[in-house]
Amino acid sequence: MRQKLSVKAPAKINLALDVLHKRPDGYHEVEMIMTNVDLADRLELTELRRDEIILESTSGFVPDDQRNLAYQAAALLKKKYRIKQGISIKIDKQIPVAAGLAGGSSDAAAALRGLNELWQIGLSYDELAELGSEIGSDVAFCVHGGTALAKGRGEVIQPLDAPPPCWVILAKPSIGVSTADVYRRLRTMEMKHPDVKGMMRAIEEKNYEGICHNLGNVLEDVTLKLHPEVRQIKEKMESLGADGVLMSGSGPTVFGLTRHESRMQRIYNGLRGFCGQVYAVRLLGEKNP
Ligand code: ATP
Repeated sequence: MRQKLSVKAPAKINLALDVLHKRPDGYHEVEMIMTNVDLADRLELTELRRDEIILESTSGFVPDDQRNLAYQAAALLKKKYRIKQGISIKIDKQIPVAAGLAGGSSDAAAALRGLNELWQIGLSYDELAELGSEIGSDVAFCVHGGTALAKGRGEVIQPLDAPPPCWVILAKPSIGVSTADVYRRLRTMEMKHPDVKGMMRAIEEKNYEGICHNLGNVLEDVTLKLHPEVRQIKEKMESLGADGVLMSGSGPTVFGLTRHESRMQRIYNGLRGFCGQVYAVRLLGEKNP
């Protein structure tokens, strides 16, 4: 009988994103506070007799070959642990692509977690995260999930408590943003640094107002200059009554926070029609099982 496994790959948002400096190796030294939200891709992994990797996805916007990060995760494990079985990876894509929500990294992390189990490799999440950071900087966080401070180029993970529960409204305009391009345009002299320590304190104290107050992302100014529609979405979300509003990652997705279901409905309804894709989800905040 062929072995099968289904794995969930949740999206992340950045509650804080700071860039400290550019390193000699070309990467930026970052401090990011990330947390998962209840919007997820699902990967179905099925063993194949033939030694090959086959990938399909429900989205026309992601590659279905070795450029796909989930494919790269499978190839990495196969090579490193000399796995001879093949694998079919079907991705039910729910996370918008090139959105600042780490969809690709989360798919890669889910493939690593799932294949580790299916192929009985026996790696810990720390070991999987270290492997995953060869594929992309956000993969390490996505292996662990939950809420964490990510340092280095994103691969040094310090787990944090889950923030207090709230609604997250995600609004993505119909544009894609290249993370590499945003970092290229970032001028380290002109950055408004978020208070990452203040955010960590607020999370530890389960202080919702403190979390809203300390939201900050140094990449926001760069993307807002490139895409004025992102600023319009921020302003709209604020005027609809979100307690805190921020762009996630390099954008263009903007998220707003509220604790009240009626307010969530108002923000959600107010943004539909105004902006490409809108979702109302819960903060997950808990680690992957
Ligand atoms: P991040 O927040 O980590 O910067 P993102 O949300 O901005 O990521 P992704 O959705 O991960 O961006 O997509 C970035 C690029 O990666 C896209 O151009 C896409 O073609 C490519 N890609 C490769 N594999 C995947 C995948 N499984 N899902 C989505 N995109 C993928």
